Amino acid sequence: MFAEIALRNSLFEPFTYRVPEHLKSVLKEGFAVYVPVRRQVQVGFVTALSEKNSSGVPEERLRDIIDIFPLNPVFDRNMFQLLMWASDYYIEPPGSMLFSAVPSGIFKLSNFKVRLNYEDSREVVIGLSRLFKKKGNYKISMLDLFRRLSDGTAQLFVEETDRDQGSVVELSGDVDEEEIKRVSEKYPVIDEILEYLRLKRVLPLYEVLSMLRDKRILRYLYKSNIIRIKSGDLRASSYAVEEGRVIELNEEQLNALKSIERIRESGFGVHYLYGVTGSGKTEIYLRAAKGVLNSGKSVLFLVPEIGLTPQSIYRIRSSLMCDVAVLHSGLYEKERIQEYLRIKNGEVKVVVGARSAIFAPLRNVGMIVVDEEHDTAYKQEESPRYNGRDMAIKRGQIEGCVVVLGSATPSIQSIYSIKTGKFSESRLTIRANNKPLPEIDIVSLSRSKAEDDDVEGLPFYISDELYRALIDTINNNNKAILMLNRRGFNTFILCTSCGYVFKCPDCDIHLVYHRHREMLLCHYCGYNQRLPDICPNCSSLSISKFGFGTEQVEETIKRLIPSSRTVRLDRDSVSNMYDLENAISRFSKGDANILIGTQMVAKGHHFPDVTLVGVILADMSLSVPDFRVQERLLQLLMQVAGRAGRGSESGKVIIQTFNPFEPAIVATKSGNMDEYASIELVRRKNLFYPPFSRIILIRSRSEDAKKAEEVLMIFKNALSGLKRSEVLGPVKSPIERIKKEFRYQLLIKTVEINRVRNTLKNLIPDVYRLHHKVRVSIDVDPLNML
Ligand code: ADP
Ligand code: ZN
Ligand code: ZN
Repeated sequence: MFAEIALRNSLFEPFTYRVPEHLKSVLKEGFAVYVPVRRQVQVGFVTALSEKNSSGVPEERLRDIIDIFPLNPVFDRNMFQLLMWASDYYIEPPGSMLFSAVPSGIFKLSNFKVRLNYEDSREVVIGLSRLFKKKGNYKISMLDLFRRLSDGTAQLFVEETDRDQGSVVELSGDVDEEEIKRVSEKYPVIDEILEYLRLKRVLPLYEVLSMLRDKRILRYLYKSNIIRIKSGDLRASSYAVEEGRVIELNEEQLNALKSIERIRESGFGVHYLYGVTGSGKTEIYLRAAKGVLNSGKSVLFLVPEIGLTPQSIYRIRSSLMCDVAVLHSGLYEKERIQEYLRIKNGEVKVVVGARSAIFAPLRNVGMIVVDEEHDTAYKQEESPRYNGRDMAIKRGQIEGCVVVLGSATPSIQSIYSIKTGKFSESRLTIRANNKPLPEIDIVSLSRSKAEDDDVEGLPFYISDELYRALIDTINNNNKAILMLNRRGFNTFILCTSCGYVFKCPDCDIHLVYHRHREMLLCHYCGYNQRLPDICPNCSSLSISKFGFGTEQVEETIKRLIPSSRTVRLDRDSVSNMYDLENAISRFSKGDANILIGTQMVAKGHHFPDVTLVGVILADMSLSVPDFRVQERLLQLLMQVAGRAGRGSESGKVIIQTFNPFEPAIVATKSGNMDEYASIELVRRKNLFYPPFSRIILIRSRSEDAKKAEEVLMIFKNALSGLKRSEVLGPVKSPIERIKKEFRYQLLIKTVEINRVRNTLKNLIPDVYRLHHKVRVSIDVDPLNML
């Protein structure tokens, strides 16, 4: 018998090993085994088993699998199927895909202890690495242990050695209220955490840390003797929730719930919940989850990492009244393994986590929820480059369960899937609290300067409307947020008379200006032109290059409105969570009344007394060379608009732009994506972009620019003659150099995805071997085109 084995660093070609006699009847696909690799022993995964040796290497030269890893199956059939699909789909070697789906440290025996139960009811607990030592008293074989773990006469658990393991936080009890007040003045997040501690009494340390997002604040609380840290039962503390009140669903919500349940009863299907923030989507996920749990199945919730707040987790726990495994990036290795084991053993039936939680070893999955489906955080930007949302749909298909996607600003991709009937859909149009959406004004920057009642001395990027609204806001003791949606590129070029921006005639993406050669370049296809002096649209001489940032806007605001107190929020002004916390607290406590920042201001925080949101120059986002910029801009604008009017007073949003008729900007007024989507879908169809084609981006980087480009030519040549496909490039990447390396890219648009995939897979081993000084990466369905 022969086994194909995927190793951590192997490419697509599997390694073939002989299966020794004692493992023949146990091994299955998806099992982890120990194999010899040169002079070492490595862990690998069985990807195929066969009676025939098809490796091309004579049998006597093949080596034997050494042993079985005791904790098997590492992947059950469904998960194995999902991962092999992903490996194929994302052109990612199976080993890389499989290994990234388990917690790191899972193969380190010293991480585990094992409890062995004997027939005479003796019980022995021993470190796993000691168990296999030659001279140990209880020495058993790996295979014996595997059998015992399978039949329940042995249990694995994580050895807790780390000081942080099992640490919980509680209030000291005898704290000085004055002191708390003084401290929380400085860091408002503390209020939240203390409130939460009063409610729950104890919290796992990691949860507190993820809430504070900065260890220094924790240290401060500890030193001021406000909290105590002790070791405790993490699970008990997680359980200390009170049952949430039961909410009566409105009609829209009831219909949505019914649709989900109908699918659930019939098996696989994707249902989309399209509803504004606050319309009760989460309420529906939770209600549907209850039904799933009652039927004995489990539930997987995916949320963007930023949504993994203790409040949201608490809400899930108190609504479902059961234990929940939370998988977030702040977990230590052993905590991660512990959660993994709990899920694998069926001790928890609800898992909440960011994108990698898609790999959670839940059994009998009854529903997968992907909240904020449009969020680009679901895409992993390093190998393996999978998209958690798309994997969720595939997993649902394999598990035969319902997948629920939700968002207030669906991706164009999903809207297309709804339109073509691939997804069913429910809409939630009413906000549960009946709060109206803020009023949105789109102000044309070219027009506003021509009016008669001009305010003197305003720079072009502060319109009269915005200026007056800012003054009003401050006079009424309210607060404003100003967003400058700058991303990546400093120099932005447009005609300030008519708003014209330079786009590639073929790709319809924005050309990037290269200063040293005065050239405009398309980073998809390589098209380039000289920067003209005269606007091709209106023939004026108003083509302007400008680069300005939040700092400049802040100075201008201070000068124009002396009574303003500003605070800045961008990567330059806040380099760590501590600064971030400080900036936010200055604004929420009222030390500042205008918050000026990059897109960072659109996310997360809740400021009730913000009544004005101003977007300085919406067009800035459009200068990013990416065919999805319009879609992203609309999502960003809707998100930042949602910051206005959360409290008792209604809000106002002013969006300044040179392109007031840009569909993505116009659509913010109604907040409805449909109209925009129909325009955008026509554009995408004409230009052969997704969802009408699939795209694959091949990137190369090397200190040798020529080599980096040459490697991509190999791929291009191999793909020539392919029908219903376009291969653009190679061309320099928009971000041309990172450190010393030059970056190039090749963009493939195709409907022949399987052909492309096979061609690429066949090329990769040679390319890697022959051009080891060039690093090549393949991104299927890329979201980030820089
Ligand atoms: P979303 O997930 O769409 O942002 P949520 O489910 O978080 O919306 O709901 C927003 C708020 O409204 C929550 O506090 C929730 O408890 C409340 N809520 C939701 N549905 C109802 C309802 N039918 N009646 C009253 N309150 C509701
Ligand atoms: Zn012009
Ligand atoms: Zn082009």
